[in-house]
Amino acid sequence: MPPLAVSQPDTQSPDAPFLLHRVRVARRERLSAGFVRLTFTGPTLDRFADPGLDQRIKLILPGEAGSLDDLRFVDDWYGAWRGLPDERRPVIRTYTTRAVRPAAREVDVDLVLHEPSGPAGRFAAGCREGDEAVLCGPNVRAATSGGGIDFRLPPAARRVLVAGDETALPAIARILEALPLGVRGVALVEVPSGDDGTQLPAHPGVEVRVLVRGSAPIGSLLAAAVRETAPRLVTTAVGEEPEDVDVDVGLLWEVPEGGDGPLYAWLAGEAGVIKALRRLLVAELGVDRRSVAFMGYWRRGRAEGS
Ligand SMILES: Cc1cc2nc3c(=O)[nH]c(=O)nc-3n(C[C@H](O)[C@H](O)[C@H](O)COP(=O)(O)OP(=O)(O)OC[C@H]3O[C@@H](n4cnc5c(N)ncnc54)[C@H](O)[C@@H]3O)c2cc1C
Repeated sequence: MPPLAVSQPDTQSPDAPFLLHRVRVARRERLSAGFVRLTFTGPTLDRFADPGLDQRIKLILPGEAGSLDDLRFVDDWYGAWRGLPDERRPVIRTYTTRAVRPAAREVDVDLVLHEPSGPAGRFAAGCREGDEAVLCGPNVRAATSGGGIDFRLPPAARRVLVAGDETALPAIARILEALPLGVRGVALVEVPSGDDGTQLPAHPGVEVRVLVRGSAPIGSLLAAAVRETAPRLVTTAVGEEPEDVDVDVGLLWEVPEGGDGPLYAWLAGEAGVIKALRRLLVAELGVDRRSVAFMGYWRRGRAEGS
């Protein structure tokens, strides 16, 4: 594989919370009907930290002009990116690390193949070994944490409800891998096809249910399963009406520091679906909202960042 061309000097602080990394696709593996695993490699990936759980990262791809050359490898790379003219601005999308192997300088990301598609989905579908991209991820030498982990299990929690659609499957897999063995609960994952859920690991205390959507509307199986499952996990009822969020205008993202009840819930997926689940859990079933993290991972009909 040819070395990566250095078009811009790298002046990022060695202890910055997050770092940009020039990478290439080392391998592309079709995991299932709906998922592709991309293994990225790059000379600086030994500095890519791996705190696990739902750590979010950025995948940066060539924009309309087909190049990453205008991206600046500086601490305020995002400010510089925003200042670029539209046609020269690379595309930024949010993903989850499925595996990080610093010694091998490799990072795995599992991407959904979706319709309608977008730049990241198309990259997943059509990229080849050697194609260039940039990853932005946490830094092993960070002086301060840059955040990006939203699964924050409160010390008192003994039961979990983890639920999401296919975009949350990589995060749910990593959460299952990291959950303490004494925790009990249910993980519900709605996926388009039967073989999509086969990548999920087992946990001795967590019942993992894969809900195969087929042609049913996105979120419909998830909503029914949360409605059926949550009552047996909920023991305290607070019954607070959550504030309304217009998912077409605002970001649905509420990550509390954690309540003191025994149940902790983490929900991620299409924003409209997650908004409905949030109402179901908090207003109808009375789950303490301080114990529930809700995240709109994508919005139907909207490209990320639009
Ligand atoms: C914290 C976080 C972690 C995430 N982790 C992952 C991950 O590990 N793997 C993963 O695949 N995704 C993940 N996502 C979701 C991913 O960022 C979005 O699906 C993103 O929109 C994909 O970018 P795109 O360029 O393909 O499509 P965009 O250009 O953003 O959107 C184009 C069109 O595609 C639609 N669209 C976007 N995603 C989907 C979908 N899944 N199904 C159907 N239509 C869709 C949009 O509504 C829009 O109409 C994560 C999102 C967040 C916020």
